[in-house]
Amino acid sequence: MMALVLLMAAGCSSASQSEAETEDNESQRPIIVQGPMPIEAEEFAGRLENVEEETSGNFVFYKGTVDDYPVIVTQTGKGMENSAAATAIAIEKFNPIAIINQGTSGGHDPELNVYDIVLGKRTVNIGALKTGDRDEGEGIEVTEWIPMDLMASEGSAGEDPDAEKARYYEGDEDLLAAAHAVKDTHTKGKVVEGTIGSADFWNNEVDRIEWIHENFGTSVEEMETASAAQISKAYDTAFLGIRILSNNKTNGGEYDPNTATANQDYVYEVVSEYISTITSEK
Ligand code: SAH
Repeated sequence: MMALVLLMAAGCSSASQSEAETEDNESQRPIIVQGPMPIEAEEFAGRLENVEEETSGNFVFYKGTVDDYPVIVTQTGKGMENSAAATAIAIEKFNPIAIINQGTSGGHDPELNVYDIVLGKRTVNIGALKTGDRDEGEGIEVTEWIPMDLMASEGSAGEDPDAEKARYYEGDEDLLAAAHAVKDTHTKGKVVEGTIGSADFWNNEVDRIEWIHENFGTSVEEMETASAAQISKAYDTAFLGIRILSNNKTNGGEYDPNTATANQDYVYEVVSEYISTITSEK
């Protein structure tokens, strides 16, 4: 009998505790900051307070706070698949209010230099392509490839003329506003709005870079943002890509890995600014 009473009491107290936790999570849904490589996540993770580490698959979630607000830094690994999966897992597990995907990138615009930062006003998958119709022996003609929108319909993208276009994901306006508000904190380069192009490839052919720049309007290329944007959109979660140029083949900008740290320092300011806007609305 005593044991039963104790059990019931324990049951009650844990139920009310979890209700309180849910309420707390409702009012303070975390901000997710994603970085693909250790050099693109560890600097930010190191600045979190009260950090707890959680892993899921090959993804590492550093759960902590910035200005007493919950922020979770995710080391996603490189590439489209990793960033899509890390995004879906983060949304399902943590119900974030916003997601920022950040890291390094290669310039497509000769006006942009290593250490300049591109805010993803738009994000596009530059590896979703349909080739021309060519028979055996007719060769490979990359410049006639056209963009393909896999989200145009549930039917065959190969047959659907509506799918013959690129799909652009818009950056969230409030996140963009926060990013603009702290632009001046980034002193090693400029901060501009632009189009981030993503695919699992690294282009070193300047003519191909120019072709993508003209056909997709890309400012930079990298391997993650469009996939995280697509999944964020699927769940209607606010999203922004923030990418620093670590290299730019179009103007001779040599690869500099230290750009990864500079970007995290800037993104930290963006997150802190965003927190001040969402907490003052309440
Ligand atoms: N030179 C680095 C390459 C890392 S792989 C190394 O050898 O360690 C590519 C990673 O850097 C991806 O996460 C991608 O998002 C980013 N990236 C930076 N510049 C890029 C470029 N020019 N093209 C494609 N991805 C680039």
